[in-house]
Amino acid sequence: VGDELLKYVAARLASAVRAVDIVSRLGGDEFVIVLEDAGSPDDVVQVAEKIIGALSPEVAIGGHRLRATPSIGISIFPDDAQEAFALMKNADTAMYHAKAAGRNNFQFFAREMNEQATHFFTLENKLRHAIEAGQLLLNFQPLIDWRQRAVCGLEALVRWKDPEQGLIQPAEFIPIAEETGLIVPVGEWVLGAALRQNRLWQQQGRPLVPISVNLSPRQFREKDFVASLRRILADTGQPARLLELEITEGTLMHDIEETHARLDEIVAMGVRLAIDDFGTGYSSLSYLKRFPVHKLKIDQSFIRDLTTDRDDAAIVSAIVGLAANLGLDILAEGVETREQLDALVALGCECFQGKLFAPPLPPLAGDEIFRPRLPNGAGA
Ligand code: C2E
Ligand code: MG
Ligand code: MG
Repeated sequence: VGDELLKYVAARLASAVRAVDIVSRLGGDEFVIVLEDAGSPDDVVQVAEKIIGALSPEVAIGGHRLRATPSIGISIFPDDAQEAFALMKNADTAMYHAKAAGRNNFQFFAREMNEQATHFFTLENKLRHAIEAGQLLLNFQPLIDWRQRAVCGLEALVRWKDPEQGLIQPAEFIPIAEETGLIVPVGEWVLGAALRQNRLWQQQGRPLVPISVNLSPRQFREKDFVASLRRILADTGQPARLLELEITEGTLMHDIEETHARLDEIVAMGVRLAIDDFGTGYSSLSYLKRFPVHKLKIDQSFIRDLTTDRDDAAIVSAIVGLAANLGLDILAEGVETREQLDALVALGCECFQGKLFAPPLPPLAGDEIFRPRLPNGAGA
């Protein structure tokens, strides 16, 4: 029965990894798996998870109902050891920690990686659940056209209301969602919820303004993205011109041809494109000419010290000039003070987003969203 179980486990292990990976049995009930080019520790976590999952169902062997409870130790080349023997020894050490931790789990050899992986792992599982449990919500922040003294758009910003941890900010879970691919369902939910909210506001007689939705690189590259975008627009009955997608420079730098084709398809639908956090991506400026982009959003890091740091002022001024010459709209993010507003107007930027006008607010605060604070006088 033991031999049969070992054979069964070996087959399950082989099916849980890629064809290029090595699965071997050293003896006893110990297996060694070598993942070549494993990627990031998070990718390794996914393989470990997959193995635990593959072994979790009960199996009937010789009239017994059996279940393997693997303890997985992980060591990573070259960080944990430089050569094979030491790597295996360290994986072995890690495996004993896994056994001690109660089996059916994995441990990294490097301690800090464990903590990171555990945190990541818990958050990932909770986030998976959060989507179904309706724990995600959106806040909205108005975009201000200073010339018109009017709201010219709304940015939808996702939040996660966890029953135990309270409100979790996107900076904490978007990277995990991106890493695990959960960003695809999260992003779809955000798009649908943002468009539905805008429709609701329209039905309530609020002004017709476009809604801006952040798009992560992974979501953008997803095969079905354009189809799902079409479907969500159709389902919510919102015209494409009332949707602006915010992408980052990183999204554009991926696979130029593929990216170009996809952007063209999106723009042909009538959706607008903005580059978010502009100026932080170290990217080639030539793509601004090549890609069908409509707007640049100057990253808030350049606005923060705008009034005291001449370099920031020079950068903002250059971006404003670039946008003007290329016929792109321009908006400054993170405007918090009257002084920043005046400095931006003096530099020729007249669209803003920031706490000076309104912070991101829940949909119930419709009045504050559509009638934000507007400081008096033009200043500069
Ligand atoms: P972002 O798209 O650049 O959004 C602007 C961020 O600046 C928001 O942070 C907003 O709360 C913050 N902010 C607004 N006004 C001010 C201000 O006056 N001063 C300062 N210092 N900050 C201000 P938030 O909501 O924490 O979002 C952080 C980032 O998370 C976003 O940056 C965006 O990259 C990402 N994110 C948010 N929602 C989504 C989403 O639905 N999908 C994806 N893929 N990413 C999202
Ligand atoms: Mg944004
Ligand atoms: Mg930004």
